[in-house]
Amino acid sequence: MELTYLWAICLAAFGLGIGSFLNVAVLRLNAEETLLGRSHCMHCKKTLPWFTLIPVLSYIGLGGKCYFCHQPIAAHYALVEAVTAALFFVLAIWFIGDPVRLAVYLIIAALCVAIFLSDCLFYTIPDAFTLPGIVLAVVGQIILGTPWWSWLLGLAIGSGIFALQYAVSRGRWVGSGDIRFGAMMGAVLAWPNILVGLFLAYVLGALVALPLLLRQSKKMQDAMPFGTFLAVATIITLLFGDQIVQWYVYDLLQ
Ligand SMILES: [Zn+2]
Repeated sequence: MELTYLWAICLAAFGLGIGSFLNVAVLRLNAEETLLGRSHCMHCKKTLPWFTLIPVLSYIGLGGKCYFCHQPIAAHYALVEAVTAALFFVLAIWFIGDPVRLAVYLIIAALCVAIFLSDCLFYTIPDAFTLPGIVLAVVGQIILGTPWWSWLLGLAIGSGIFALQYAVSRGRWVGSGDIRFGAMMGAVLAWPNILVGLFLAYVLGALVALPLLLRQSKKMQDAMPFGTFLAVATIITLLFGDQIVQWYVYDLLQ
């Protein structure tokens, strides 16, 4: 039992580093910078020394300010690192007996965090996250021996529902990035869990949109970054999808 937690803590520490990398990847993909090159402050442009780049700890140690110019650093950097670490910790415990599934889910979860951040900050879902995600999900399902029709049906539903909305609205309701993210989501969740994932995403979206609409701080035509809800729903379904399907099919329908 102690070994399980030791293993999970090691993966969480690894998750801190991955979260830090995701911050940089999202920022640089959207600013069209290369992934290479040293990190620098957004305000004073000075190159940041290594001891200011330790995930979460540096943020707390520097009081959320730049080491040089003391301008505030956005809290979401530390938040993304902490959330990635927490996800890695939970996934490590959940899937300890299934190393292939764990490896696939860790990468998918990291991609979901990156997509959440990118859609939240820049209203984009980069192909650099979704296309490798689709390939990884499909290869993972084949190695895991998931029936081919199950992940293929998931992929078709996940991408189809957004392709339809995209076609009907001529790209006003959803972006084309949502179609590719839907494909990734469908391939990794597979049938029938993709239905759980999509349902959760719409419920989450409604929960966030309704109060905003009622306070009229958002109008109906304002774009909601739906990828953020899809990302959260995908992670919840990876963790609890089987239990939700079991509960729905066996407890509610009998
Ligand atoms: Zn600075």
